[in-house]
Amino acid sequence: MSDDFERTAGGAVLMDGNRLRDETVARIRGELEAMGSPDVCLATVLVGSDRPSQIYVRMKHRKAEEAGLVSKGVELPETATQAEVEAAVQGLVDDPEVHGILVQLPLPDGLDPEPVLALLPPEKDVDGLTERSMGRLVRGVPGHVPATPSGVMRLLERYGVETSGKRAVVVGRSTLVGLPQVLLLGRKGVDTTVTLAHSRTADLVAVCREADIIVAAAGQARMITAEHVKPGAAVIDVGVSRSEEGIVGDVDFDAVQAVAGAITPMPGGTGPMTIGCLLENTVEAARMLGAV
Ligand code: NDP
Repeated sequence: MSDDFERTAGGAVLMDGNRLRDETVARIRGELEAMGSPDVCLATVLVGSDRPSQIYVRMKHRKAEEAGLVSKGVELPETATQAEVEAAVQGLVDDPEVHGILVQLPLPDGLDPEPVLALLPPEKDVDGLTERSMGRLVRGVPGHVPATPSGVMRLLERYGVETSGKRAVVVGRSTLVGLPQVLLLGRKGVDTTVTLAHSRTADLVAVCREADIIVAAAGQARMITAEHVKPGAAVIDVGVSRSEEGIVGDVDFDAVQAVAGAITPMPGGTGPMTIGCLLENTVEAARMLGAV
């Protein structure tokens, strides 16, 4: 691992997602300016009044604008019907000026996200969540990769974490994070040997202690303790739990940073990079659609 990175009190490299997100935003801005500042548009669909969802969407717009993208927000009330949500998404699918579409999940109770996501063509599916995008990822065909696991890969790369021939454990098997994370870590060129752990995994401590890289995406506050971590391992925290102390990750940061070789903060690690990768996907969407 390179030596000019910021370190925690215990000596672990701090994998700073805010810094890498800012670098990503600046790079995208430079690339768009070099192309004559074409309009590349990210559209978001927000249904209802879930506070964290509102904050995430606002942040995505702010960073999109900093990166030189155009952003468009469609907001629907909590009372919106399935047909209204689908009509709003279809409008964006049909709009040639919109390149990337993000439907903020979860939708309010009573709305089914599946038929909504199914409307998205792979080119505009910048969240990479539809069956077709997932199929492309599995098959190794160009398409959009979900932004959170992509962001994890960027952090590993940026902070000099070796992957080839290393062992990785992903805790959590959702289609949003865990499953695509396993595929990305096992890809040719990345070449880790990956274990997928979940709530039925026996002896998670022993499984994690084998790993050179741990990606924790279970949504269980501070479940990864120093005991789970092989000295020198890289530990990436994806989990978000809300508590009275604010946002808490899946990793017990204070204890783990004393053992790990590299660690992400929470907040300030994977969250910002999710946005960075979403913006990259949007520029790629414009390329796929022939708009830049
Ligand atoms: P899900 O609830 O869909 O999946 C959680 C997974 O974790 C499941 O596979 C579950 O296992 C597993 N799990 C739960 N408890 C344990 C446990 N005690 N031990 C081992 N495995 C366990 O969540 P998501 O994948 O959608 O999200 C995971 C976390 O990441 C959430 O906290 C979410 O808020 C956060 N998140 C963060 C993002 C970021 O940018 N940082 C972006 C997206 C999500 P099983 O399958 O057996 O039930």
